[in-house]
Amino acid sequence: MGGRGEESARRPRRRCLCGSADVRAWIARLSLDFPRSGVTASAAVPALRCGCCERVHVEPCTLERLRLVVGCELANLGVLTGEAFRHMRRALGLRACDVAQLLDLTPETISHWETGKARPNRAAFVALAAMLQDAVDRRTITRDRLGRLVEGRPPPPSLTLELR
Ligand SMILES: [Zn+2]
Repeated sequence: MGGRGEESARRPRRRCLCGSADVRAWIARLSLDFPRSGVTASAAVPALRCGCCERVHVEPCTLERLRLVVGCELANLGVLTGEAFRHMRRALGLRACDVAQLLDLTPETISHWETGKARPNRAAFVALAAMLQDAVDRRTITRDRLGRLVEGRPPPPSLTLELR
C-alpha cells in the first residue's frame, strides 16, 4: 500500500519512533492495486504524522478494517476474480483450507480460482462477501451458520420465536 497525507487539526498524545512528541492526527491516502482485475482502490484513512521526521503511522487495526471494506466493495462491484477472492479470504484471516472446509470445496478448487485457472463460483464468492460484511459490522452470523453446517449438529427440536 502506498500513500500520502494531509494534516488535520487534532493532536493525540503520542511520541514518534524518532523520539519527537510533535505527532499529529493525519489523513493518509492509501491505495490497493488489483492489477489482474483492472481495479485500484483508493482510501483516506486516519493516521498519525510526525512533524519532525514526517513518518506517517497507520494503526494495524485501521489497515485490517480497510482490507475488509475494500473486499466488500470488490464484492459489491461484482469483481468476480481469483485476485478479489484471495484478497477477501485474506482480509478475513482465513486460510484456503479454512474456506474450502466452510464452503464444502477442496483446497485445490480455491487454488485454481485464486491463481486464475478458473473463475470463482458465484455462490462461494457471495458467501465470502457475506462473511466480510459481517466482519465490517463486527458480527459473525454467516461464519456461525457455516460452522454449524460443517459440524453437522442436529437442529433443536423446537424453536420459540416472538414477533413484535
Ligand atoms: Zn518522527
